[in-house]
Amino acid sequence: MTNINSVTGTVDSSQLGPALIHEHMRVRSVEVATQFPHLYNRNEELQLAKEQVLAARNAGIQTICDPTVMGQDRDVAFIREVSECTGVTIIAATGMYTCQDLPEPLRRKNIDYLAELFIRDIEVGIQNTEIKAGFIKCATDAQGVTPDVEKIIRAAARAHKRTGVPIMTHTHAASKNGLDQLDLLEQEGVSARAVIIGHSGDTHDMAYLSQLLNREALLGLDRFGLSIGMSSRERPDLLLKLIQSGYHKQLLVSHDYCGSIDWWEREEVLSFAPDWSMTHLTRDVCPYIIHQGVDQDILSEIMVNNVREWFEHAAKGTY
Ligand SMILES: [Zn+2]
Repeated sequence: MTNINSVTGTVDSSQLGPALIHEHMRVRSVEVATQFPHLYNRNEELQLAKEQVLAARNAGIQTICDPTVMGQDRDVAFIREVSECTGVTIIAATGMYTCQDLPEPLRRKNIDYLAELFIRDIEVGIQNTEIKAGFIKCATDAQGVTPDVEKIIRAAARAHKRTGVPIMTHTHAASKNGLDQLDLLEQEGVSARAVIIGHSGDTHDMAYLSQLLNREALLGLDRFGLSIGMSSRERPDLLLKLIQSGYHKQLLVSHDYCGSIDWWEREEVLSFAPDWSMTHLTRDVCPYIIHQGVDQDILSEIMVNNVREWFEHAAKGTY
């Protein structure tokens, strides 16, 4: 058992229940949202997030990890409002979604300075609230490990070691950069079992996934319903294949759904990702996996125990 920071207070790891590990209540481009606020409607955004989270709750989900951080216009008060309105436990993140360069005020700061920002979010509160972060997010995309990305990954590692909260990453799976992330995190003394290598379900490259698994990392198959790197239709079969290969204890699942996101118009999203929602897994994917002969207990292990163990293992690593 370990105490986890949720947006509505501390929750025991044994009380998480079935969880989705990567869903966004809202993603916005901060420059656009602050300069042209008339393009946004907070009430509408809140309504959309609540609808999805309520639907997930009705499908049995009790906990959602929301990895929205700097770079995606994190608003922790917004996230808390969704949690309070729906009764679903939501765990917010600290960290940075920076794939190339840090913003100017942070570029000349060192790794420990960045780590202190994350630690403050975890121990004091996010955005001058008392709402604390429950995990740390960092990102590597097609640009690879740029000098600033390396600093952020090392800072995430140091914040993890100080606080015992786990790490979740964003990767560009085609570039296999989950391996680069593991290299850096392990150099900093992080156990791979405290790390979810995100977007690992975006590739058919089993050699790459086996390397991550054999190093004991956790795989985020976290874009069900989306066709990025792997079509939505093919994703359930990757999950099935990994379960049948005996890796179910290292798998975590989610949709990377965004209650709202300002990258596309809603109609566009519906046309390119008709299945994308916070209930696609429970409604479509899990019944398919069970129909293929996988025991319900295995799916419960993935959606309940693996999430719990990610947090508990990370907490053991506290220095
Ligand atoms: Zn995401």
